[in-house]
Amino acid sequence: MSTYVHDFIDGSRDAADLLGGKGANLAEMTRLGLPVPPGFTITTDACRAYLKTGAVPVELMRQVEDHLRGVEARMDRRLGDPDHPLLLSVRSGGRFSMPGMMDTVLDIGLNDRTVEGLARVAGDARFAWDSYRRLIQMFGHTVFDIPAAAFEEVLSAAGPEESLDADALRDVVAAYKQIFHRHTGRDFPQAPHEQVHLAVLAVFRSWNSERAQVYRRQEHIPDDLGTAVNVMAMVFGNRGPDSGTGVAFTRDPATGRRGAYGDYLPNAQGEDVVAGVRNTVPLQALADLQPACYAQLLANMDALEEHYRDLCDIEFTIEHGRLWMLQTRVGKRTPEAAFVIAAQLVDEGLIDLDEALRRVSGPQLAHLMFPAFDPAATPRALTTGVAASPGAAVGAIVFDSAAAAAAREPVILVRRETNPDDLPGMIAAVGILTGRGGKTSHAAVVARGMGRPCVCGAEELDIDPAAGTLTVHGTVLHAGDVISVDGTTGKIYPGAVPVRPSALMRHLGDGTARSDDPVVAAVDRLLDHAGRVARLGVYANADTPEDAALARRLRATGIGLCRTEHMFLGERRPLIERLILAGDDDTEREAALAALLPLQRADFAGILAAMDGLPVTIRLLDPPLHEFLPALDELTARVARAEALGADPGRDALLLTAVRRLHEQNPMLGLRGVRLGLVVPGLYDMQVEAIAAAAAACRRAGGDPRPEIMVPLVGDVRELAAVRRAAEAVIARVEGAPAIPVGTMIEVPRAALLAGEIAEEARFFSFGTNDLTQMGWGFSRDDVEGAFFGRYLELGIFPVSPFETIDERGIGRLIRIAADEGRRTRPDLVVGVCGEHGGDPSSVRFFHDAGLDYVSCSPYRVPIARLEAGRAVV
Ligand code: ADP
Ligand code: MG
Ligand code: MG
Repeated sequence: MSTYVHDFIDGSRDAADLLGGKGANLAEMTRLGLPVPPGFTITTDACRAYLKTGAVPVELMRQVEDHLRGVEARMDRRLGDPDHPLLLSVRSGGRFSMPGMMDTVLDIGLNDRTVEGLARVAGDARFAWDSYRRLIQMFGHTVFDIPAAAFEEVLSAAGPEESLDADALRDVVAAYKQIFHRHTGRDFPQAPHEQVHLAVLAVFRSWNSERAQVYRRQEHIPDDLGTAVNVMAMVFGNRGPDSGTGVAFTRDPATGRRGAYGDYLPNAQGEDVVAGVRNTVPLQALADLQPACYAQLLANMDALEEHYRDLCDIEFTIEHGRLWMLQTRVGKRTPEAAFVIAAQLVDEGLIDLDEALRRVSGPQLAHLMFPAFDPAATPRALTTGVAASPGAAVGAIVFDSAAAAAAREPVILVRRETNPDDLPGMIAAVGILTGRGGKTSHAAVVARGMGRPCVCGAEELDIDPAAGTLTVHGTVLHAGDVISVDGTTGKIYPGAVPVRPSALMRHLGDGTARSDDPVVAAVDRLLDHAGRVARLGVYANADTPEDAALARRLRATGIGLCRTEHMFLGERRPLIERLILAGDDDTEREAALAALLPLQRADFAGILAAMDGLPVTIRLLDPPLHEFLPALDELTARVARAEALGADPGRDALLLTAVRRLHEQNPMLGLRGVRLGLVVPGLYDMQVEAIAAAAAACRRAGGDPRPEIMVPLVGDVRELAAVRRAAEAVIARVEGAPAIPVGTMIEVPRAALLAGEIAEEARFFSFGTNDLTQMGWGFSRDDVEGAFFGRYLELGIFPVSPFETIDERGIGRLIRIAADEGRRTRPDLVVGVCGEHGGDPSSVRFFHDAGLDYVSCSPYRVPIARLEAGRAVV
């Protein structure tokens, strides 16, 4: 026979799967000796059995009756007894708190006879009739789905609630009973045991209510858990001035500040506080109103904190000067409070630093690192797009990159989408807004790398750069109008919303914030601990000396990806064009490379100096060459215009031929990465020489440069062997160069599968998880996000975008295979990750589990990855 019912005295918080959160915590408080009204919990098993078969398990109602007799004995009152009626509450409570999802019925046990009894025992007829009308209302609504408005109409027609006396309420009850009959075709159930029975089943059924299902889907709570039901004796806060009800937190859930905090409502029932119908007083007022209860409440709260070793929130009621505890749970809190409380609890000796790390998370830290809009001063949003790069930005609208770069005041760059040509504008803008693309669109990736707030894919925006307008729901904004962009939430606001800077970022980034700020101190302390325990190193992706220096301040222990392509943009573009136009002309090509060499050497020298003593992984040129040339249509138009005017298109004509020659159907699968290095003679040699010469110069200046050379897009060991041999020959010729390890990215699935062979030639592997994901799945991230990702997420084919969080089963498997087989060949192979996933909290945990050595991410994500790397251990 199954046991479906557990008395509060017999349960514990460890049984939350069976008893639900509320039931388990009521049991825990009872065991601690706190004053909880007697009661019992019907298990989630019983709910599941009922929902599966549609019938109540036979044992269940018998067990309920047994336990009810126990409650009656302890309260010395009986259910349905006209002289001393016991009243009950029937409360839902699943494993996870689902606020407002499932309903509670209070005052069960009242009927036409017990209401008189209650009036006599309480010496208060008004109270008794008010309780009865509440029961019919709550019961009718929750158990029989009678619209709440039907009751409210009658109540408000009877006059202001406070003015209703016992007789008036008696009339309301009579009217309520008619409503009940009209809607259900039956009388309001007078038998208290039937009331309990019906209420329990209603709670079971409410698990499958529309609201509950929607909430679960949104919060990823499984559908098959079921809810528990708590049945307990009622206590009354609405019995006069020495009664009341309240909610309290053991610390301030907004700031983490120590000390009880909450609201109290004299002469009221719990429902009234939640409904917010009357004004509450601060908890501290209870010290004057009811000093003894207040002292006892504080003592109980201390006991709960001590026991749960965490911030607790509670519901309590005082009946005639007697305190009752009605609910507790480990309370929700803001990210600020999460860090502050974790550190406080360490100081108070309640938890150790490992436990403190478990209590905070990377996403919470991310929230603290970026400026935010003042929630009190935020107007209605114009629209919402994809929250692509967190932070708050306020600026004037500009529609093109050149205007952004030229602007004197803060600007928001607004584009349908961005491309590499927009880079100067993106750097100049304080925020970026696009109408198309998702979290891995160009705009999003670049913005995150720069720590620039960005909202992308705001599809409701009609962006017309030619007209200089931005239209949304009929509102037309012009270039120069100020807007506010929230990259943390994806919301766009009209005008300038006040921004609160992140004190934490100022402290971490440049050390100017006061470190006696409790949030900053707590974060520092937990990051220190994370750094001490983490096995996974955290490097940064940084392409410039400034980024390298920032990464170092944010405590990156190396650079895992230094891209070199941006070093060929801007004023160096003509040099690259010259290289491309040289074609088979050796002299011309060598001249172009010779001109690039000193520029590259200076680039590398700056980065190596900023990262002195730490590894700097430099990736040889990766993108297809035509990315450095003007677009085909633009060139065609230029040449046509020149010819129409009878002028000589000159260099443009040559460029056009080159663009046509280099044109690719699938550039991502074309002439790029190592293929480029093997096809364009001298290109990689020039880069290697620049690296070696820069390192030699750093050493001469007394530094300790640690460059490493990373070859992109390798699919076969012979590709890597050829590049490596050439590189070593170049390095050997540079006087004073240190030893420079050569390794490879693993981003082509074939390379992952043949990693054992590739490791023969590679000193290290770095997983380029962006390319590995797109090639592993066979879709291009630049094209597919808007096309079908939404649908795939809806269908549950993706739990989240695989470009955001690593697809552990598929792409993750390639990573595990490659890491294992690579290390089998070369036990001291260093294995890291340098894709976007390196800064994603749940991916970091996977990379730890897969046994990698480090992750590398944009500088701003370094603290987040570091925290998560520590959390993966504890
Ligand atoms: P929710 O999960 O929506 O908070 P609860 O089950 O906690 O629902 O109950 C709703 C309100 O009724 C709360 O304010 C609670 O304190 C109050 N309440 C529940 N049970 C009792 C009881 N036995 N006596 C007095 N008030 C109660
Ligand atoms: Mg509650
Ligand atoms: Mg790549």
